[in-house]
Amino acid sequence: MCFRVAMLSLHTSPLAELGRTRNAGGMNAYVQGLARELGRGGISVDIFTRRADAAAPPIQPLAEQVRLIHIPAGPAVTLPPDELSPYVADFTHRVARFAERSAYRYDLVHSHYWLSGVAGLSLAAAWDVPHITMYHTVERLKWQRQDPDDMSDTARRRIEQERRIAQHADRLTVSTEQEAEQLRRLYGLPASQLRVIPCGVDLRRFTPGTCAQRAAARAALAPDGRPLLLFVGRLDPIKGIDLLLESVARMRTPARLVVIGGNPPGDAEVDRLRARARALGLGERVSFPGAVAPRDLPCYYRAADALAITSRYESFGLVAVEALACGTPVVAAHVGGLPTIVRHGENGMLVRRRCPDAFAEQFDALLEDSALRARLSSAARPSVMRFDWPRIGDRMRTVYQELTAEQRGVAACSCF
Ligand code: UDP
Repeated sequence: MCFRVAMLSLHTSPLAELGRTRNAGGMNAYVQGLARELGRGGISVDIFTRRADAAAPPIQPLAEQVRLIHIPAGPAVTLPPDELSPYVADFTHRVARFAERSAYRYDLVHSHYWLSGVAGLSLAAAWDVPHITMYHTVERLKWQRQDPDDMSDTARRRIEQERRIAQHADRLTVSTEQEAEQLRRLYGLPASQLRVIPCGVDLRRFTPGTCAQRAAARAALAPDGRPLLLFVGRLDPIKGIDLLLESVARMRTPARLVVIGGNPPGDAEVDRLRARARALGLGERVSFPGAVAPRDLPCYYRAADALAITSRYESFGLVAVEALACGTPVVAAHVGGLPTIVRHGENGMLVRRRCPDAFAEQFDALLEDSALRARLSSAARPSVMRFDWPRIGDRMRTVYQELTAEQRGVAACSCF
């Protein structure tokens, strides 16, 4: 007997180019990584996403036991998440029809982000199967430090729906204890409804490489031999790239900064950041090569003296794990899930004060002390072995097992 999961990623495809736009990053990487891992473990996964490209095939095999199903709902173009709620009902209906026509019986619904969560509630009820969901970001938490009077109708609708999902989903997974606690408080959820499972990273792809590989990567990115800081991510205001530029401008060390992400040439945000760097007098010291495919990222991580994360918030922070897996220390803001990954003075530095001087001080401290860099670097990879996909996949399978056992009121399904 085969266990079959309907995984919902309505608003963005796991195959979207990561970091190229503001809407494709950690969640896309997570959905794809998790599905592949579950597939390797013998669970069949169909990932349902809204068709955003008319040329996308209806069914696309992704990996062993994993398929991506493009569901036509709304126009076949990429739309920002805020514009997608009118299409959720149609998406849900078409997923149900797909299942009906192909005579598949899904054993569980696993939804990602609130739009998929809404679809997940209906599908799980219709199929009478458990529903597990992950918000990835929680709208209510975003508004904790902002004036609720400024809230848009879309934000209000999302908050309402996220509350409904919390009330009805069988399990909510979060990537950190801190987020679990926040959700417990926010919705009055029992601990039994929440599971903390960190995000996974492919530790076979993200490796420190050989000394020769590191030297070659470094020579390519910093041929003048200057110290090198790296940023990797979506070019979104939440990532605090302006603060990063200001911090670099205040450093004693004339370091180089490479900002990975965005879609130059012609990307207005890259142009704006480049102009800001020039205005700060950083000129040629900052480069913006655009988004880089995951397979090529290890070279960038290996080349850098440190990965810089100056985000206002990170629910987890996959790039921190990836850099550490490549043996590169991380200097990160003490926000969200980052303190669960970065340990101050052990594998990187954490910065509590949100100001350029505080970041500049830590960047200088690291770049001026080669013994410290070597110590943090050698502790980096061992500190993230717990995020290896096979371990994370096991934990998710255990939750699936719990849910199906609860559903049937019997011992867990033998196919796990
Ligand atoms: N990423 C990438 N290429 C880029 C920029 C980002 O592959 O040019 C990937 C990065 O490696 C990571 C993900 O996008 O896997 C970003 O995840 P993270 O949790 O750091 O940030 P989020 O997007 O969730 O805010």
